[in-house]
Amino acid sequence: MNALFNNYSRRPISLVEGKGTFVKDSNGKSYLDFTSGIAVLCLGHAHPSLVKTLQEQSEKIWHTSNLYEIPSQVKLAETLVKDQHLSHAFFCNSGAEANEAAIKMARKHTGKNHIITFENSFHGRTFGAMSATAQEKIHNGFGPLVDKFTYLPFNDVEQLKKSVDDSVAAIMLEVVQGEGGVNPITEEFAEAIHEICSTSDILLIIDEVQTGIGRTGTRFAFEQTVLKPDLVTLAKGLGGGFPFAGVLGTSEIYDTFSPGSHGTTYGGNPLGVAVSQTVLDIVFQDTFLNEVKEKGEYLVQKLNEILPADKLTVRAKGLLIGIDCGSLEVAPTISKFEDAGLLLCGAGPNVLRLLPPLNVSYEEIDQGIAILEDVLIKQLNEQTV
Ligand SMILES: *Cc1c(COP(=O)(O)O)cnc(C)c1O
Repeated sequence: MNALFNNYSRRPISLVEGKGTFVKDSNGKSYLDFTSGIAVLCLGHAHPSLVKTLQEQSEKIWHTSNLYEIPSQVKLAETLVKDQHLSHAFFCNSGAEANEAAIKMARKHTGKNHIITFENSFHGRTFGAMSATAQEKIHNGFGPLVDKFTYLPFNDVEQLKKSVDDSVAAIMLEVVQGEGGVNPITEEFAEAIHEICSTSDILLIIDEVQTGIGRTGTRFAFEQTVLKPDLVTLAKGLGGGFPFAGVLGTSEIYDTFSPGSHGTTYGGNPLGVAVSQTVLDIVFQDTFLNEVKEKGEYLVQKLNEILPADKLTVRAKGLLIGIDCGSLEVAPTISKFEDAGLLLCGAGPNVLRLLPPLNVSYEEIDQGIAILEDVLIKQLNEQTV
C-alpha cells in the first residue's frame, strides 16, 4: 500500500526516460513502447519538435485564461477543421470532458435529451461520459447515472432502426471501439446511421478521442466512412502527451453555446495549444498519414503471417490494432511481453492492443513482431498442453 488510491492496476515498472518508440525503466531496462501511453504519444517520446515548442512557449506565456483573446487557439481550430464539413472548436483538457461538452451541446441544440450509445463503448469516467459508456463494470457502485442514455448492440442495424424515434437527440459512437476490444464499425451500420441522421434532426456525435489525429491513417477515422458527424470529440493524440482535448462541430450548432453556457479554466491554454499545433503540423500531412496507413497494413500483414489464424484474429484500422486472443486471458501475456522488452496494453480481457507511435519505423515494427511471435506462440502452446 502507498499514499495513492487504488484505482489502477499498475504494472510493476516505472518508466523514467523515453526517446521515440523506446522507453527506459528505473532499472535501466529498455522497452519498445507499443502503448504510446494509450494512444497519447502519437509522435513517440520526447519528439524534438514538441520539446522545442514546449520550451519556447514556456518562456513566453503558459496560461492567460479565456478571459482574453488567444489567437493561437483560433489558428489551432482552423487547422483542425480545414477541408472538413466541421467549422468550429472548443478546447478542454480530457476526453471525458470533451464528451461532456458534446453531450451538453446535443441536448441544448435539439431541445431533446435522449442519447443512443453502443455496448462496449468507452467515453470516459465523468458522470455524463460514464453514463454514455455502455459497460456495466464502469458504472458499478456509482449510480444513479445521468438519465436518458439507451444502449444498443454495436453494428446491429435492425435494433437501431427499431429504437430510433423523435425523442432521440443524438447517436454517439466510436468508429473503432478502442477500449471495448478494437471493434470497427461495419459499412452497413455506418450507412444506416448516416441515413438516419441525414433524414432527421438527430445529431451524430463521434468520439474520436482514441481514433483521431491520424491514428487510423486519416486525420479522423470518420473520413474513412460515409459518416458526417455534427460533433467530434478529441483528446489523447491531440496533445501528443500534453493533456489537451477538444470538440469540433458544424456551423449549424454554432449558436448552441453563447458566453457563459460552458467553459473550463485550463481549456485551450497557450502551452497546450502550442504543443497541439506542432503535433498537427506534423501529423496532418498527407505523406505522414499515408505512411501511417502503410505501416498499419505492414504490421497487420506481418501479424497474419506469424499468428495461427484459427486461434487469433487481428482487427485493425491504421495503427490501432487488436489481436483477439479468443479465450486466452491477455493480462499474464502482457507481463511476458514486458519481460521480453515490449510494452502492450489490453482492450478488454481477451484482446491485446498495439498502439505504436504514428512515426514508428519499419525496423521497430519488425523488432516488435519478433517479440510478439516469440512470446505469443509460446503462450499459446502452453495453453493448449
Ligand atoms: C480514452 C478515451 C476517453 C476518455 O478520455 P480521458 O482523457 O481519459 O477522459 C473517451 N473516449 C475514448 C474513445 C477513449 O479512448
